[in-house]
Amino acid sequence: MSDFLPRHIGPNREEQMDMLAQVGATTLEDLVAQVVPSTIIGGRRLALPQAQSEVEALAELRGIAQKNQIFKSFIGQGYVGTVTPGVILRNILENPAWYTAYTPYQPEISQGRLEALLNYQTMICDLTGMDIANSSLLDEGTAAAEAMTLAKRQAKSTSNTIIVAGDCHPQTIEVLKQRAEPLGIEVKVGMAHQLMMEGDYFAVLAQYPSTSGQIHDMGRYADFVHAKGALFICAADPLALVLLKAPGEWGADIVIGSSQRFGVPMGYGGPHAAFMAVRDAYKRNMPGRLVGVTIDAQGKPAYRLTLQTREQHIRREKATSNICTAQVLLAVMASMYAVYHGPEGLRRIATRVHGLATRFAAGLKAMGIAPAAGQFFDTVTFKNDAHAAIVTTARNGGMNLRHYAEWAAVGVTFDETHTDADVDAVLFAISAETGIRAPMSIDPAPSAIPDALKRESAMLTHPVFNTHHSETEMLRYLRRLADKDLALDRTMIPLGSCTMKLNATTEMIPVTWPEFGNLHPFAPAEQAKGYAELNKNLEEMLCRITGFDAVTLQPNSGAQGEYAGLLAIRAYHASRNEAHRNVCLIPSSAHGTNPASAQMCGMDVVVTKCDDNGNVDVADLRAAAEKHSSKLAALMITYPSTHGVFEEAIKEICAIVHLHGGQVYMDGANLNAQVGVTYPAELGADVSHMNLHKTFCIPHGGGGPGVGPIGVRAHLAPFLPGRGKVGPVSAAPYGSASILPIPYAYIRMMGADGLREATAVAILNANYIAKKLAPHFPILYTGHGGFVAHECIVDVRPIKDVCGISNMDVAKRLMDYGFHAPTVSFPVAGTLMIEPTESEPKVELDRFIDAMIAIREEIRAVETGVWPKDDNPLVNAPHTTEVLLTETWNHAYTREQAAYPLPGLRQSKYWPPVGRVDDVYGDRNIMCTCPPLESYASA
Ligand SMILES: *Cc1c(COP(=O)(O)O)cnc(C)c1O
Repeated sequence: MSDFLPRHIGPNREEQMDMLAQVGATTLEDLVAQVVPSTIIGGRRLALPQAQSEVEALAELRGIAQKNQIFKSFIGQGYVGTVTPGVILRNILENPAWYTAYTPYQPEISQGRLEALLNYQTMICDLTGMDIANSSLLDEGTAAAEAMTLAKRQAKSTSNTIIVAGDCHPQTIEVLKQRAEPLGIEVKVGMAHQLMMEGDYFAVLAQYPSTSGQIHDMGRYADFVHAKGALFICAADPLALVLLKAPGEWGADIVIGSSQRFGVPMGYGGPHAAFMAVRDAYKRNMPGRLVGVTIDAQGKPAYRLTLQTREQHIRREKATSNICTAQVLLAVMASMYAVYHGPEGLRRIATRVHGLATRFAAGLKAMGIAPAAGQFFDTVTFKNDAHAAIVTTARNGGMNLRHYAEWAAVGVTFDETHTDADVDAVLFAISAETGIRAPMSIDPAPSAIPDALKRESAMLTHPVFNTHHSETEMLRYLRRLADKDLALDRTMIPLGSCTMKLNATTEMIPVTWPEFGNLHPFAPAEQAKGYAELNKNLEEMLCRITGFDAVTLQPNSGAQGEYAGLLAIRAYHASRNEAHRNVCLIPSSAHGTNPASAQMCGMDVVVTKCDDNGNVDVADLRAAAEKHSSKLAALMITYPSTHGVFEEAIKEICAIVHLHGGQVYMDGANLNAQVGVTYPAELGADVSHMNLHKTFCIPHGGGGPGVGPIGVRAHLAPFLPGRGKVGPVSAAPYGSASILPIPYAYIRMMGADGLREATAVAILNANYIAKKLAPHFPILYTGHGGFVAHECIVDVRPIKDVCGISNMDVAKRLMDYGFHAPTVSFPVAGTLMIEPTESEPKVELDRFIDAMIAIREEIRAVETGVWPKDDNPLVNAPHTTEVLLTETWNHAYTREQAAYPLPGLRQSKYWPPVGRVDDVYGDRNIMCTCPPLESYASA
């Protein structure tokens, strides 16, 4: 047996036996047999290789990593080398306090990461010269696509055409075209300044500087574009913006880009945080998450996610974007890169990079070779008859240049990892193939940025970017922020549907190996053999786990997986002359990303009912399928159900959809209850996504990264993204490649039996909690034999009816007990959904159960009138030290009752840094950049 299994699973054998007895089962197998309907249980054992020990898994991954070759990259094209400051590498990327945190929906226990994200937004606003920025989007390509749909909604022009400059990054154009097609948007690619003179359009997208390095003076065209009622979208490089006039100052309406080069390794394509910044007028339509400033119950400034009404859960099929998981950890890293370097440091880095490029251009000129553009930042492109030979010779010398075979040109992009010696080395490679001697010395060259486009405005003037420049200060700033937050390194995070399980250190270690981190996504395939092997093996293992025939690892989140899966279904129908099939059935209980993704595919969403037990109402579904039979494209269904039940009718449901010519999309976010026990493909699904950041141990990073691969049955395989028939859904071919070692290590260390045991214990832990809480709170929706699957829903509505205490009050009070709240009001308003996962030990489950029971007793004191409805520890939660340490205390309960409701809290206590945040104030007074320091003093 693997030495890892007992490390990953929380309860030991003895505890499992005890818990099994309490829930009414004899063994784990007996429990599974009682919980999972016999028609659902897959008969066969998972066909996976023998489980490995932690040492063996690392050795295997080391061997794979060594098959990657790390060349010096001059490819550019949106991915460049960067130096991750050691203090950021170790204290963020390798620090569980940051990487195991959840999305900051509970702001009181997330102030640290919210502050980091606010710094990110401030940095982006300063660099772009725009009013408001989000944090964050998935990559530059999808950010461009999101900007396109935002422009479509906002532009005065009713045209359906977008003009895209042909010298944007090619992957950006490909992603944008794929996103445009189902929406009926026409994409005209070419010389933007010519195309924009002809006809109508709702937006123009151009890149600053262009993919080949040229800096265009776009301000000249902005007025013209605006006169057409269209918006100007600018894709920009943040390091270039340190030296360039900000797009907001020359008339851009939306600015997007990637913050990769602010200290985030290339990682063979990702993960990295993309950004979007817009004019103030568009903020209510902006996709992604927006951090804002509000006040807490005591009137002190506090951070929160602002305008949350834009989330898909509220807007559903009217949502404008399906972005859920974003790239928080990477946005935090990029923001801290700016905090650490400050404006002067960034200027130094940008100036040095620019200096390498101008020096290189001067060298070229000395050799009689003219650079293609006179105005550039970091990239110099030149034509030469010997283009192919130059690229080959450079490669033989360990350097990757960008090859434009069709234009007989070569591109060379510099970054902060390069030196003068690298400039010389590239010049020598050119010399070797052209026979022209490289210059012995190169005189300092003048700036290649035209005066009119030089930045004059100040940036990053806020104190946060001008304080933490010594390593000691930076270290303490990061620690101070991390200490404000609750992550998995302190407490269980029992979030239903989000599967916050162990992110084992062994799984994380390979992520920061240079052999995985320092590869360019478009490096020649022969240098990426390690990645090829990793990805192929992982795809194969995921096929075995799901029963599907093919898997793509490209989607950067679960929602992107949904989008990719629906695109495959759509293309499949079209290939059979059934392009008119565009109705997507979605049960009312579905996750909000489902309808949002369907809408992005141009599908018509038809919502079907759930019955009183939370199951899909089969009769209603059948009626809808019959009614829309000729136009039925797909059903999107979550399994086990969103309510945490193994629906017995799943096979029948799939059959109904197939009978009417539709395809079944299974939302696999709940795969943690299926692995090793049943197989989505065998239940009747045609396609399913699996969130590797839930079931397969990629940490949530405070709201990303994530990976949402999809598995498909053979008939859909030709329609996976980027395989010819459907365009890419991510900028990089393998999306967030550098975090794939995590699920790889997990599956290798668990093996077939371990994975099945994890599923069984996840079910056991959930049923144990349900059993223990049932005498105190109603548990909604149980299946077969009164059991739940891997999560359970606690109903607080009856309590609210009696005494006014809400599920939100319980969530906030849990913070005083040191816990992160369960999922609030999803899938049922007024409830809490608890998913403990298999990794939580029994002692932690008991601690949580004790807290919930103690909270129930507190509620009883309100119900019986001991405490007033408007002054009790629940409605006043969470309690900060500042609130508790006052001269006078005028509450109906004691300070001790507030802070130490259970004796164990005296040993270990988390102190919430702010009181309950005021959501309404925050949405009325939108402020999404760092507030001036005086605002804290005055509060
Ligand atoms: C998490 C989740 C999603 C979305 O996944 P992201 O990676 O956040 O985009 C979709 N459906 C369900 C049921 C989920 O729990």
